[in-house]
Amino acid sequence: MTEKHRAVAIDGPSGAGKSTIAKAVAARCGFIYVDTGAIYRTVGLAVRRADADPHDGAAVAALLPGLDIRFDYGPDGTQRMRLNGEDVSEAIRTPEGSMYASAVAALPVVRAFLLDMQRDMASSHSVVMDGRDIGTVVLPDAGLKIFLTAGLEARAKRRLLELNAKGDPSTFEDVLADMARRDEQDASRAAAPLKAAEDAVLVDTSDMTLEESIDHVCALVKARFGIG
Ligand code: C5P
Repeated sequence: MTEKHRAVAIDGPSGAGKSTIAKAVAARCGFIYVDTGAIYRTVGLAVRRADADPHDGAAVAALLPGLDIRFDYGPDGTQRMRLNGEDVSEAIRTPEGSMYASAVAALPVVRAFLLDMQRDMASSHSVVMDGRDIGTVVLPDAGLKIFLTAGLEARAKRRLLELNAKGDPSTFEDVLADMARRDEQDASRAAAPLKAAEDAVLVDTSDMTLEESIDHVCALVKARFGIG
């Protein structure tokens, strides 16, 4: 990372509001938002389409050289994911896609495959990057690290609203169970488990509205980097 590029690392479990908050904070501060979960989801989608077992490291490793994964930004600043040229930004957002992403993310070969892509982005732009291991592994020198969390029920409620708004008929019980399973898978894996960096600022959004969370994180960013 060069002097002139600033990095904010936002890690935490799914449903804590990371992506919405990170995106809004990036827009307000003039940083680029990088959603690293979308990159893992794209690998997961490729594995699902190949009908491979996402827990089988050798099978997944064999697929990786054939994958061309890139991302760019639409006119509204939305991150678009491309898999071998196809825009898969919507296709990766299904509950099944979440499970595939979480499974392939546990494989060290996948994490190594995606590391440079994430670091390159931060070395060429000021970024707000969200994920599970940004402050601990990807950008250990980030100028500000935030561990964003919320209680499981609050997170499941938020995710349910998002899914139902898209026409997905999942129930609260489905979402709660999926989320608890994914939390467990993400926190207990050997490769880059979800955990707060020692120097991360802990932000619990359970009792905050979205606006309050955005304001709070923005204030942290502005204070840390001396932005007016
Ligand atoms: O953030 P999102 O829910 O889209 O991420 C999907 C999955 O990708 C997570 O459950 C997690 O297993 C994995 N992931 C990761 N490291 C990151 C970002 C996401 O392991 N930096």
